[in-house]
This record gives sequence, structure tokens and C-alpha cells, in this order.
Amino acid sequence: EKRVYFFGKGKAEGKAEMKHLLGGKGANLAEMTNLGVPVPPGFTIATSVCQEYESNKGKWPAGLNKEVDENIAKLEKAMGQKFGDNKNPLLVSVRSGAAVSMPGMMDTVLNLGLNDKAVEGLIEKTGNPKFVYDIYRRFIDMFADVVMGCSHSNFEKAIHAAKEKAGVENDNQLSAEQLQDVVEKYKAIYKKHVGSAFPQDPKKQLVNAVNAVFGSWESERAIKYRKLNKIESLLGTAVNVQAMAFGNMGEGSGTGVCFTRNPSTGKKEFYGEYLINAQGEDVVAGIRTPQPLKSLSKAMPNLYKELTTLMTKLEKHYKDMQDIEFTIQEGELFVLQTRNGKRTAAAAIKIAVDMLKERLINNREAVHRVTANQLDTLLHPSFDSNAKRDVVAKGLPASPGAAVGQVVFDAEAAEKWEAQGKKTVLVRTETSPEDIGGMAAAEGILTVRGGMTSHAAVVARGMGKCCVAGCSDISINEKSKKFSVAGKTFKEGDWVSLDGSSGQLMAGAVPTVEPKMSGDFKKFMSICDKVRKIKVRTNADTPEDAEKAIGFGAEGIGLCRTEHMFFEGKRVWYVRQAILEADNYAEMKKELAEADTKTDQQKIKSKYSETKKNFESALRRLASYQKKDFEGIFKAMAGKPVTVRLLDPPLHEFLPHDKATQSEMAKRLGVSLKKVKEQVEKLNEFNPMLGHRGCRLAVTYPEFYRMQAKAIIEAAIAASTPKKKVVPEIMIPLVGHVEELKIVKEEIVDEIKQVLKSNNTRLTYKIGTMIEVPRAALTADEIAAEADFFSFGTNDLTQMALGFSRDDVAKFTAKYIEYGIYKDDPFQVLDQTGVGKLIETGVKLGREQKKTLKVGICGEHGGEPNTIDFCADQGMNYVSCSPYRVPIARLSAAQAAS
Ligand code: ADP
Ligand code: MG
Ligand code: MG
Repeated sequence: EKRVYFFGKGKAEGKAEMKHLLGGKGANLAEMTNLGVPVPPGFTIATSVCQEYESNKGKWPAGLNKEVDENIAKLEKAMGQKFGDNKNPLLVSVRSGAAVSMPGMMDTVLNLGLNDKAVEGLIEKTGNPKFVYDIYRRFIDMFADVVMGCSHSNFEKAIHAAKEKAGVENDNQLSAEQLQDVVEKYKAIYKKHVGSAFPQDPKKQLVNAVNAVFGSWESERAIKYRKLNKIESLLGTAVNVQAMAFGNMGEGSGTGVCFTRNPSTGKKEFYGEYLINAQGEDVVAGIRTPQPLKSLSKAMPNLYKELTTLMTKLEKHYKDMQDIEFTIQEGELFVLQTRNGKRTAAAAIKIAVDMLKERLINNREAVHRVTANQLDTLLHPSFDSNAKRDVVAKGLPASPGAAVGQVVFDAEAAEKWEAQGKKTVLVRTETSPEDIGGMAAAEGILTVRGGMTSHAAVVARGMGKCCVAGCSDISINEKSKKFSVAGKTFKEGDWVSLDGSSGQLMAGAVPTVEPKMSGDFKKFMSICDKVRKIKVRTNADTPEDAEKAIGFGAEGIGLCRTEHMFFEGKRVWYVRQAILEADNYAEMKKELAEADTKTDQQKIKSKYSETKKNFESALRRLASYQKKDFEGIFKAMAGKPVTVRLLDPPLHEFLPHDKATQSEMAKRLGVSLKKVKEQVEKLNEFNPMLGHRGCRLAVTYPEFYRMQAKAIIEAAIAASTPKKKVVPEIMIPLVGHVEELKIVKEEIVDEIKQVLKSNNTRLTYKIGTMIEVPRAALTADEIAAEADFFSFGTNDLTQMALGFSRDDVAKFTAKYIEYGIYKDDPFQVLDQTGVGKLIETGVKLGREQKKTLKVGICGEHGGEPNTIDFCADQGMNYVSCSPYRVPIARLSAAQAAS
């Protein structure tokens, strides 16, 4: 069993496809080596070993040690150097890297292999004692911090003191002697905190470092990151051991990060930052402020050309924007990492559209270049350009967006405040991986130090979160929870606004506006439409919603809830009047049916004359309101299909429950307060969601559905044009038994026939049903015989399948998710195992009965990417979701199809 994979001298044992085993970093180091990119040689210990290490309780599996030794020997040969040599020592970095990139999650140790002897050898070889002592002190610090758990801050104090004593500001201004002195201090600190002398044996250093990388996989912050990003099914992290390239050997050396396109805007340009005379971490850590990549073209023109040629080559090869780490060692270029670069939502769209134009990728690939979350951020508000801005400082526009919130100074507070429903802006000197939870909780992030590729910037872009970095104008006191700028002081809890696109920090809460779609956005969405198979409809109750959804690309209405209209303006009083008389009206009908003689009938009619008048006139009024509503919607949809769901909630919801409104109701309807109260009492239910609602209402009071059917058909007639006939789809909710559907349908069809007859016209219409009661899904074959279409109402279906009351679920879902009972909130992400089984059964049985049965989904889940993927798999015809989710649904549907 092979556990270690070598790369070097133009040949590697691994390749890009082996990410699962070698991690992203290792697989790409191998791939680049094979491509002939100048990569320092090294070897990768596979991710599977991390798992073995875990299950062996921290012991190496048999055979690993031998394989590592063989690879060290190979590396020594490739470099012409030897571990711990007193003439030409081999120095390596030990780097983590899992299959999924987790920025800054696990720590890297640089300059490993240095000891007192190697230091002498290296000074002799380079003639550069300053450089050698610099990397030795870095190594002791990193090794202590990452491997031995002795905090970096212990060493910070010592170097700070040394700089103060020397009267210099930056680390690299210390002389060789001063650095040598720092090394001695560091060793003493190491011994004091760790309890033993700094290890001199390079192999021992290596083993400890490898174990630390493995151990970090289970560190709190790594676990948190994986949980937050729902990263599962990874074996562990790989360990890359790689010969060092030194960016800190003087003014001819340096290190940097570059992108093949601009990660903020997506513009096709070389982009990046670098530092002269610095080592890897320095750029990211924001210790010094880096130079823009462009200035390298002046400082080192040949090298710049070589680098940009490589950038182009790597992008062509990977067919995606690359994020590349490089180091220049005395004029020689080395590439240390490449990966698909993180980018803002706007950049993702532009890059996908551009790369398609450049024929680097095809449609099916393009739709996978933007995530649903990214698209979501584009549909969010930005600052109102007319609003007054009290700009107090400007930093780097690290990740776009508009954040308005109250200032907090630590991640913990951000998380705590979010839990209380507050919006925050996290303000920090710089962020570190420990802050991830707080960054996710905050609306935006502001840092004092660090560039466009600093931790805060990279993570925020990944999260689609607004970030302003390197805002050095502000002076911050994290302890006393204050920062000041431009003569103003901000305390914890003060409101500020952050503009991630301009880098502005503003005092107070600046108003925001709705988003506008760019040309690239529209182009990208049309690519999605070409690729996807499943249609996307919207849930819309008003003409305004319908229009908005059409703007977002909806192809129809999958769910128009009629009851929302019942509350508008005066009409609720007619609804209440009808409810008040409904029982008497039913009683009247019953008595009439039982009456034997004409005189008896006459008597009954006069007894109920008030009831009949009130009930029927209330319904007539409602019908005319509803007709107008539906006409508006049909017109807005201009011939696109519209599914109207008939009355669903329990009648109780329409009655007033406070005394004042009850009195008003009594007065308006000319009845006693007592009668109103009695009716409220009578309609009260223990489990209203499982009570008298949906089609059950129509079984007892068919007049409500008849009224609605009449309104729908009349509206359809009015909205039809000779060219475009409206084909209304009438949907009956909460059916659980085919007999329910039959009874209700018969009434509706009878009403429709009357309407068509009196209008002397013909019209095609459809009558279908929601599948939201588990029994309906299980007997879908019987139901399909009576239905023209199915729409899975997954909110109720989830509620009834799980037995979780939608309205009470908040009390326990958090714990359920924490314990992993359900992976996600089942009301947000469809429970595919359970509820999904009901859907699968429903679709299968329904289509067995009726091959042409149209099937869709209209619950909250209809706009959720995983659920859309599932629905596409089930062969549904469409998903339906809220207007703002429509673009996301179009994207998810395209991704599901490719
Ligand atoms: P991360 O995943 O946090 O970026 P890396 O393993 O990529 O961690 O390393 C951290 C920094 O150290 C990077 O800037 C990288 O380029 C640099 N680095 C890693 N290995 C070497 C090496 N062998 N020579 C020079 N620099 C290195
Ligand atoms: Mg890296
Ligand atoms: Mg329902």
C-alpha cells in the first residue's frame, strides 16, 4: 500500500485528479510538476494516512516511516542537499492540505531542518548570516507555535523588545547580530515553555510537524469550519513536505500571491500582491503592506514576464481562474501553490460568461462556476446612491456588499448578538481562523491591517460577505472596545455602515436599495436556461409579485394563495360575514333537502331569509374582488401558466380575537357581540393545522370554492385575448383521499359549467391537487385518476410526515441539527430520506396512473438547491419558489442537469 507520493524534477507520482488522496495542494503540486512549472520538489503523505493516524490514536501505520525515509533520501538527492548538513543543509516546509480548500485552517511550518549545525553550514554556503538567523528565529517560533502549542505571542514580545532596543520598526531591519541574539532568546523561551531544549534532529522535527498537521485536522477551528461549510466525507488532510524556496534572501528575492483574473470584479487582468525580501506568510499575515503585482513589471521585468506566462499557462490548463502562490529566490521564480481562486459573486458571473466567450469552457461547465449562495448575494441590497454618507475612513474594498450593523470587537460578541437578532459589523485589527464563526454571524467585517489577500479578505469573499480590509486610518483598542477615526470615537453597539465595493466606512446606518441585474447577470442566466430541463415557476399572490418574478425569469405561477387576498381592505368584513352565516346556511340547505312539501320549503326559506341574503351577498362581493385579483395576475403573466390554490387555512384565522375588533365586527354586521364570540369559540380548534381546513372546508361549505372557481373562470375569460387564451389551473389543497377530491371537484366543475354557459363561451381549464397529506402520496394512483396535475406542498407534507408542527419547531430544531438527527432544518432543506420517499412514491404512482400528469413542487423547498436537484431527479416538470429565489432556482436547475 502506497502512502507517500513524490514530486520533483519534472515528474510526479500524483496528478490533479488525485485530490481526494493527495489533498488539493498536493495534487496540484504534482500536476504542476508534470506540466514543467518550476515547483520546489517534495513529497505528499496521503489523506488516508491522516485517518489511519486518527484511528491508531496518534501512531504511524507500519511501513510509513520507511516510506518517508525513502522519500527524504530522494528529495536530498534531487536538491543535492542533506538534512541537518553542516555544509549544504536541506530545509523543507511542512504543509497541510485537504481535498477541499480550507483557507488558513491548518498551519504550515516553514524552514524545517534548521539546527545549530545547519545554521553554520548555511551561513557558509550563502554568506548571508542575516538571512540565516532570520529563518532560524522564524522556524523556532513557528515550530513552537504550531507543533508544540507554545503561543506565538511569547516570541512576539521578544522580537518587539529587540526592535525597540535597535530603534527600528520592521523585523527585516534587524542586523545579523541582533537576529542572532533573538535566536538565543527564542531558544530560551522555547525551553521555558515547552520544558525541553529546541530539538536538533531534523527527522524528529519532521515527525513532530507531520503529527501536528494530522492533529490539526481535529482542532476546534478546523471542525468548526467543516461544520459551517458542511464539508463531510473527507479522509483527512494530506501533508506536503517540500524543499524551501527563500523569498527573504535580500532585495532580489520576494514572495507573493497572484490571480489570473481580478477576483473582485472578474476582469481579465493579472492581479496580485507581493513583498520584496519576505517569506510566504508575511503577505497573508498583513505584517507589512504589500505592493501591487503591476509594480513587479518595473522592478523585475523579466521575472514578471515569466510569471505572467506561467499564470496564463496554468489558467488554460485548469480552465478556471487560478490563485497562485509564488516565491522569488535571488531572481529565480518558484510556484508553491495553485488552486481555483475564490471570487466575489459578480466576478464569478463575469468569469463564467467571459470564459465561455473565450471557448475555454462550455455551457454545462459555465453553470457550475457560480454557486447558489453567490447568486443570492447579488440579489441583496446595496447602498442607496442618493443617501447621505458620513464617510469617516477608507480601507481596501476587499469583498463587495453593503453592511449595516452595530460595532462589535470580537467574534464571540458577533455570534452572541446575532443570536439575539442583532446585526453587527465585526471590527478587528486583523482576523484569524478563530474568528470564522463571528465572521459568518456579522453583516460585514472591517480590519485595520492586511491586504486584498489577507485572511479577512479571502474568507469574506468566500462567504459572500462584505469586507473592508487594511483600514489603517482607524486606531482600535480591542480591550476597551473602542475605535477612533477622524476625531470620532465608536464604542461597541454604535451603528456603522461598510461599503465593500468602495472600501468606505460610514458612521450611522446608511439606507440600502434593491439590487439591479447587470448585463453579464442576464447572459449568465440565459446560459442556465439553455442547460436546465426543469421549469421554474414562482409563488406569487399579487400582480406585483408576479411581475417581479417575471423580471427574475419565472415561467409561470406554481402557487397563488388566494387567502392572502381575503385580508385586504374592506373584504375581510365580507369574509367574516360569510363565516358567521356559513353554519346557518348549511343548516338551511339540510332542512330544505329534507322538506316534503312546497309549504314546508316556503317556511324554511322565510326562516332563513336573512341568512341566505347575507351569506350569498357576502360571497358575491368576494367573488367580484377575487375576479379583479385574478384578472390582474393573469394579465401580468401574459399567457404563462397560473396555478391558483383554493382557500386553505382554517376559517378561525379570519375572525378577530381581540375584544375591540370583535365589537366592531358585531356592529358592522348587525349582530350581537355574544354571537361573534360564540362563533369564534365554535371555530376554535386544538390542532388547527390538522383541523377544518383545505378541501375539508369545501366538503362542508362548498360555496366558498364555488365562489372562487367562478371568480377564476370569469377572470380567465376577461384576461384571454383571441391570440392568447388563459388556461387556469385550479388547485385543491389538503386532499388525502380520492373521494374528497371527487366531491369537491364535482361542485367546482358544476359551477364552472354554469359560468361558461352564462358567458356563452368555452375555456380550457385544469383541476389538480396538492399532495401534502402523506395518505395522498401513498394513494397517488387513485388520486391521479381525478387530477390533471400534482403539486407537492412540502411544507405541510414535511409537517405531517415528520409530525413536527411548523409553528412550534423552533424550540427543538437547533438541538436536532446539533446532534445531527437531521442534518439541516427539514423545513428549509427537504428531508430526502423520509419526505423524499413520499414524493418519489407519489410521482411514481401518479404517473403510472396518468402518464401525462404534470408534477411540481410549491413548498418553501422549491427554491433550495439540494431540493431542486432532487426534484429534477424525480422527473418533476417544475419547481415553484418565491420571486427572489427564482434566479437561484434557475441556476440550481441548470446545475442539476449537467
Ligand atoms: P496555506 O494553506 O495557509 O496557504 P501554505 O502551506 O500554502 O498554507 O503555506 C503558507 C505560506 O508559506 C504560503 O505563502 C506558501 O507559499 C509558503 N510556503 C509554503 N511552503 C513553502 C516552501 N517550500 N518554500 C517557500 N514558501 C513556502
Ligand atoms: Mg497556501
Ligand atoms: Mg399546505
